[in-house]
Amino acid sequence: MTKKRLFITLLIAIYSTLLGSEVTKYIRYVYQGQESYGILEGETVRELDGDIFSAPTLSGKTLQLSEVQLLAPCKPTKVIAVGLNYRSHIGNRPIPKYPGLFAKYPSSIIAHEESIIMTSDATDLHYEGELVIVIGKEVKNITVSEAHNYIFGVTAGNDVSERKWQRDDLQWLRAKASDTFGPIGPVITTGLNYNDLLLQTRLNGELQQSERTKDLVYNVDTIVSYISRYLTLFPGDIIFTGTPGTTKAMKPNDIVEIELEGVGVLRNKVVAAKDKKGIY
Ligand code: MG
Repeated sequence: MTKKRLFITLLIAIYSTLLGSEVTKYIRYVYQGQESYGILEGETVRELDGDIFSAPTLSGKTLQLSEVQLLAPCKPTKVIAVGLNYRSHIGNRPIPKYPGLFAKYPSSIIAHEESIIMTSDATDLHYEGELVIVIGKEVKNITVSEAHNYIFGVTAGNDVSERKWQRDDLQWLRAKASDTFGPIGPVITTGLNYNDLLLQTRLNGELQQSERTKDLVYNVDTIVSYISRYLTLFPGDIIFTGTPGTTKAMKPNDIVEIELEGVGVLRNKVVAAKDKKGIY
């Protein structure tokens, strides 16, 4: 065995041990036209062979974060969201008797630094900073106490919502599931205590939302168990868990940042769509 090969094998052994319980940050990215998953350590990216949900190994190749284009950190088959899940957001409305679910689409998902596109008829487009659960294994019908075994990690998300459409439409489809209405990232972090993380939202640098995930009405494990009664969840599927406090309307060129403790800052700019007059 060459020295280089031995070194790589040792690294893989060390990382395999670490992957179990330690805090690890995963990214998905493009480098020279090639899409890969990697482990992020500071500014260093360690490339992985295979996807993060099926025992990846280190390829031995390292890159700098500045050299890669970040993608959304996973590719969900489904995107589920829970509404009204912090008392600070519920206000005077009754506490839901069970988690209130709605859907976004995989095509709503964008990466850190991608633009949120605001169509010309959007008049009340809000951010919603949220903790997002990333499922690690196929799962159906599990109890609350089993749920943690199926959760890969967490990321930050922005459940972008057009409030007028949310009020007026038959369902929340265009209000919640339009293209670009689901920024997630920049990383998926494993090994965190997702039941007590600080979640903050800034609009153009000003703090708007700040709360800990221990204040969730229905916590992460409860949400996963509840959803698993009805829907099979697959590796990479994601669940937005609800937003705290109050939200505000955004306008083109605004910068919105969602920061989740242990994950980092998800930053996106709002951009006016170049849609056609008379399209509807
Ligand atoms: Mg929400």
